[in-house]
Amino acid sequence: MRIVLLGPPGAGKGTQAQLLTGRLGIPQISTGDIFRANVGQGTELGKLAKTYMDAGDLVPDEVTVAMVEDRLAQPDAAGGYLLDGFPRTVAQAEALDALLAKAGSPLDAVLEIQVPDAHIIERLSSRVTMIDGEAVQRDDDRPETVRHRLQVYAEQTAPLVDFYRATGALRSIDGVGEVDEITHRALEALGVA
Ligand code: AMP
Repeated sequence: MRIVLLGPPGAGKGTQAQLLTGRLGIPQISTGDIFRANVGQGTELGKLAKTYMDAGDLVPDEVTVAMVEDRLAQPDAAGGYLLDGFPRTVAQAEALDALLAKAGSPLDAVLEIQVPDAHIIERLSSRVTMIDGEAVQRDDDRPETVRHRLQVYAEQTAPLVDFYRATGALRSIDGVGEVDEITHRALEALGVA
C-alpha cells in the first residue's frame, strides 16, 4: 500500500507510522527523520534544513520534494510505503501526485489523525524523542516553537485535508485515546483490520 499520514505536529504520526508500517510490512518514510539525520551528520542538506527546522518553519518545497523523489526511488519503496510528514503543502502534494502519476502508482489512502490543539500543546511539551540513541527534547518542541509550528500547520498543511478529500483518498480518524486503540482505528480506516 502507498499511504500518506496527515495530522498536526504531536498528533502521534511518528508512533502510529512505526506501528502501522510494522503491521503492513512497508517502510516508513519520515521527512522529519531524514532531515534530522542530515542535521546530525552535518551534510549540506542538513545545514540548510536546520535553519528552517529550528524556527519551526517548513524547509522549501523544491528541496523537500527532491529529497522525497530520491527516497521513493530506493528499492524498498517499490512495494509500497507510508509517508510520514510529507506532503506538508499543496505544492508538495501536487508534486507528489505528478511523480506518482508518472510512475503509474497512485496513493491508496491518506490517513488523517485528528487531535484538538489543547491536547497537542500538552503532548509536545512533555515528549521526548530518540536522537542518536538518546532521549532528548527536540529543539523545535519548545513551547514558543510549538505554537509557531501549529500556525504553520493550520496555514500550509491543513488545506491538504480538502485537497485529498476531493480525490476520494481521505480517511479521517480520531487521534485521542490509547496508542493501540488508535492503531486499530487506523487499520480499520485502511480496510485492513
Ligand atoms: P516532523 O518531524 O515531521 O515534525 O518535522 C520536523 C521539521 O522538519 C518540520 O518542522 C520542518 O521544519 C521539517 N520538515 C519535515 N517534513 C517537511 C516537509 N514535508 N516539508 C517541509 N519541511 C518539512
